[in-house]
Amino acid sequence: MRVTFLGTGTSGGVPMINCDCAVCRSDNPKNKRLRCSVMVEVDGKHLLIDTSMDMRQQFLRFPFPKIDAILYTHAHADHIFGLDEIRRFNYLQKERIPAYGNRSTLERLLKVFDYAFQDSDKDILPGIPNLSAHLIEKTTEIKSVPVTPVPLLHGQGETLGYRIGNFAYCTDVTKIPESSFALLKNLDILVLDALREKPHPSHMSLDEAIAVAQKIEAKQTYFTHMNHIIDHERHSRLLPEHMAFAYDGLRLELE
Ligand SMILES: [Zn+2]
Ligand SMILES: [Zn+2]
Ligand SMILES: [Zn+2]
Repeated sequence: MRVTFLGTGTSGGVPMINCDCAVCRSDNPKNKRLRCSVMVEVDGKHLLIDTSMDMRQQFLRFPFPKIDAILYTHAHADHIFGLDEIRRFNYLQKERIPAYGNRSTLERLLKVFDYAFQDSDKDILPGIPNLSAHLIEKTTEIKSVPVTPVPLLHGQGETLGYRIGNFAYCTDVTKIPESSFALLKNLDILVLDALREKPHPSHMSLDEAIAVAQKIEAKQTYFTHMNHIIDHERHSRLLPEHMAFAYDGLRLELE
């Protein structure tokens, strides 16, 4: 299995528009964060988690030949507004692409992108994305890859984390319900939301994320969805062993 981080930034991205703070002006490429998304490759299958607002840039920078399925965490703008770019893959693959999510995410996607969910895969047109919507509530084989949804709380809303093998991706989360901790045992890699140092109503702060990572005890934890307060070099020195900040372009190989 291979995981590629396409974006590791919070909703506004880093650098932010019209900000001249040290991180936004930094030359370190690890301080340049597009909006959150990862590609998971298993046995030649490509599962994309979220279609970030920066999807076009991400796929130009990290080319992948195809997308077999999309796993949506939730329907906030930073995680869905690249959906229209799927039309290019529909056209190249000559097929409709399945999209998975919880009920509220699918309802919102069907509303915002009503033109993209068509009844048939007969007519793949170059100008229109063509997706099918699938509710995921338990471990499901997606293109023969078992995927487990992990319900998470994100401020007032709910998101899904995803576990694939011993890899789990949990972005946009304030609290992990006890029943979901049970789904996160014996992980090799955990990816967890860590927005900034100060607490926030809909994301984990760095201290909260470290405490949760210590409870889950994955062999290695990577933090994502960072804002412009987090300086990759400086804040990395504050992290315990087996924890690190993800960055755009980071690639992980797993058994
Ligand atoms: Zn987000
Ligand atoms: Zn800034
Ligand atoms: Zn969100």
